[in-house]
Amino acid sequence: MSGADRGTMSGADRGTLSGVHHEILSRAHSGAPNGKQRPRPILPGATIGVLGSGQLGRMFAIAARRMGYRVHTLSPDNDTPTGQVADQEIVAAYDDLDAIRQFARNVAVVTFEFENVPAPTAEAAEQSAPVRPAGRVLHITQHRLREKTFLSEAGFPVTPFAAVRSIPELNAAIDKLGCPAVLKTAGWGYDGKGQFKMTSAGQAEEAWRAVSSHESVLEAFVDFGCEISVVGVRSSDGTTVTYPAIENSHRRHILDLSCCPARIPDQTARRAAEITRNVLHSLDCVGVLCVEFFVTRDGGLVINELAPRPHNSGHLTIDACVTCQFEQQLRAICDLPLGSTELLRPAAAMANLLGDLWGEREPDWEAACALDDVKLHLYGKLQARPGRKMGHLTALAATPDAALARVEQARRALGDGTGV
Ligand code: AMP
Repeated sequence: MSGADRGTMSGADRGTLSGVHHEILSRAHSGAPNGKQRPRPILPGATIGVLGSGQLGRMFAIAARRMGYRVHTLSPDNDTPTGQVADQEIVAAYDDLDAIRQFARNVAVVTFEFENVPAPTAEAAEQSAPVRPAGRVLHITQHRLREKTFLSEAGFPVTPFAAVRSIPELNAAIDKLGCPAVLKTAGWGYDGKGQFKMTSAGQAEEAWRAVSSHESVLEAFVDFGCEISVVGVRSSDGTTVTYPAIENSHRRHILDLSCCPARIPDQTARRAAEITRNVLHSLDCVGVLCVEFFVTRDGGLVINELAPRPHNSGHLTIDACVTCQFEQQLRAICDLPLGSTELLRPAAAMANLLGDLWGEREPDWEAACALDDVKLHLYGKLQARPGRKMGHLTALAATPDAALARVEQARRALGDGTGV
């Protein structure tokens, strides 16, 4: 399921196994596909710039510093999860383009830790340093309509959808797609924010209000068997690697639990990996990209969405894999050879720790650490709020079921904040 390939997609059908035309080559890093050579790498000692300062930047900075790089982070906030572990924390608004240019002049390469970095910000940074993935990849993936249009035009399997910019367009979209359906804002949505599930056409006005009358996408509701994600990585010479598929479950639209490998047939997992590599190639993406899929009840795959960065579900790779997703981001953007994505144990699971766990009392860290095969990760956020991602737990085990049971046991041991 995990593996490396080189070269671009050549299959006419990018979404099916019959499109397996690209070579799955060995991990030896000699030569380069399509005549592309990997440029001279940015070596340890250099400084990496991270736009954004949340937990993804923090885990990236930890991986980068472990390998001897320096890290600068820029965001509008102070004492941030990333800033706490970076060499320099620059506090500036993303639309302060002078600050962005100055930031980029002091680093060897710029990356980002959330995809909602405004396009002019990425462009300003690109004037002084390479930005990876490129601003163009951000531009597509930070807008659902652009992303879905790109994917469907490139032949990838996506949920049936229609653009909605007004109530008459919403009614036309309902006629086309039927109900149930999900209305989602086109831009700036994450973790289920700006979404409304419609069960009848009569809810059009309510749904339109729920997305604040903003440009949206209506998607057919997928009666999925499970949700999976595949984290893929691509270097500038076209080499790609993928992690084994991860199975995800959500609570209140926020990722709750992940396990790896996903409990799906091997053939489905191989196909999801192939689609992920092809999406990376189609976007000419250098860096990490996660593809979220719905696995339909008949075993089909449809892409829900893309994230051009390490993904919450991939946090388990820190403890579970030879090379974690954050180190891969570093390797890819620095033109270093990519690392192995192999699991160290047969299975792993991750449980998110949301702010809801913090009540009158801190969670019982000691009780969770008493499970000696469970790893605790906290993001250094200064305030716990319901629904806010504060940390995660990872467990390794012989099977995905055993890993899930263990990580849930550890999370229960933290208590519910009441101290009883
Ligand atoms: P999103 O923010 O688009 O990833 O949506 C968050 C979650 O809502 C997904 O992980 C699914 O559990 C659910 N969801 C979103 N879109 C659909 C859909 N078209 N059909 C069924 N469930 C969906």
